[in-house]
Amino acid sequence: MAAADALANVRNIGIMAHIDAGKTTTTERILFYTGITYKIGEVHEGAAVMDWMEQEQERGITITSAATKCEWKGHTIQIIDTPGHVDFTVEVERSLRVLDGAVAVYDGVAGVEPQTENVWRQADKYNVPRMCFVNKLDRTGADFFRCVQMMIDRLNATPLVLQIPIGTEAEHIGVIDLINMRALTWRGETQKGEDYAIEEIPAELADSAAEWREKLMETLADVDDAVMERYLEGEEIAVEDIKAAIRRATIAGKANPVLCGSAFKNKGIQPMLDAVVDYLPSPLDIPAIEGTATDGETPMQRKPSTSEPFSGLAFKIQTDKHLGKLTYVRVYSGVVESGSQVVNSTKDRKERIGKIYQMHANKREERSSAKAGDIIAVQGLKQTTTGDTLCDPANPVILESMTFPEPVIEVA
Ligand code: GDP
Repeated sequence: MAAADALANVRNIGIMAHIDAGKTTTTERILFYTGITYKIGEVHEGAAVMDWMEQEQERGITITSAATKCEWKGHTIQIIDTPGHVDFTVEVERSLRVLDGAVAVYDGVAGVEPQTENVWRQADKYNVPRMCFVNKLDRTGADFFRCVQMMIDRLNATPLVLQIPIGTEAEHIGVIDLINMRALTWRGETQKGEDYAIEEIPAELADSAAEWREKLMETLADVDDAVMERYLEGEEIAVEDIKAAIRRATIAGKANPVLCGSAFKNKGIQPMLDAVVDYLPSPLDIPAIEGTATDGETPMQRKPSTSEPFSGLAFKIQTDKHLGKLTYVRVYSGVVESGSQVVNSTKDRKERIGKIYQMHANKREERSSAKAGDIIAVQGLKQTTTGDTLCDPANPVILESMTFPEPVIEVA
């Protein structure tokens, strides 16, 4: 799809979480919802969605690759795996280098847990724009508001609460969308193409919704001058302007949109995908990547454009049962073709690009080339290890890098 391929419509994201908070479940649900969008008209009625989901689960749609591509409403979302386990801190850092934004998933009962804190701080270090998804609101003891408070206390975050739950535990039936001031519920008649219904805000939550909407606008005014001005004037601010301000604040790292639901019960995933598209950056929104010339000193930059010379960073090596050694590369600038000669500027070695693959949840697609913003798996690289720069031999650059030991992960 041409539109989805445009750089402005690409979202390279990671999903970060403390172990057991629901990263895997959330990722699976994202793949499910993005995978069926083209046929959702046929299957979207309640039970049919579930049947389809069960089938998919039997076939085992889980991410085994370091990066997986899916499509959502004309956008390409690439999910880059960020290991949740604390032992993989080094790997987490490495993956944070190559993603443009992240969704932090929280267990609505446990709130902010130690590993989330670790990853959050690492993401601070790399200025990764982040939004939050408070998961497991169906669980006994879930408390959305406590979790939000913990984000402030433990993470020093600036939560922009965009939704509040309608009910928790067994009563968790939906969320209130504080931007549009309406209820999204997972019961009753669904919208065409969506698995939730849009309803009036329940009367008993009207006060709470008004209060949280006020808080949202106050926080937004604190972090965005344009909103501040109009807010002080007492002006009504249009939904599109609110959303644009949330996007600016998120990309600038000044605030973190917060959404909620229950991945396991399929509640909240579609609005979360909308938020990924609406608020997290495209490769064009992040600063040009910094590097040096091959002298290791002279500063250089590469802009995320296909008209720049090719540059990319190898961020993970996997051994695939069928394809052998695969090197995952984030392309930062230019275009690279399969079969072409590039240089590994970190090691000062020539390398030939073998086959280029685009990895999806349940299939891989061979491509003849890749361009700025893409995340690909490359076969045939002999000398390259993670953290190395690959680039156009005529225009070498060494992208800023970190030196790490080299783990090789076996994929079953
Ligand atoms: P990860 O370690 O962060 O990848 O967590 P998983 O996605 O594997 O989830 C850990 C456990 O929590 C699994 O048993 C999931 O079924 C369960 N789980 C995930 N999301 C939810 C949820 O929204 N509600 C409930 N009740 N359980 C969930």
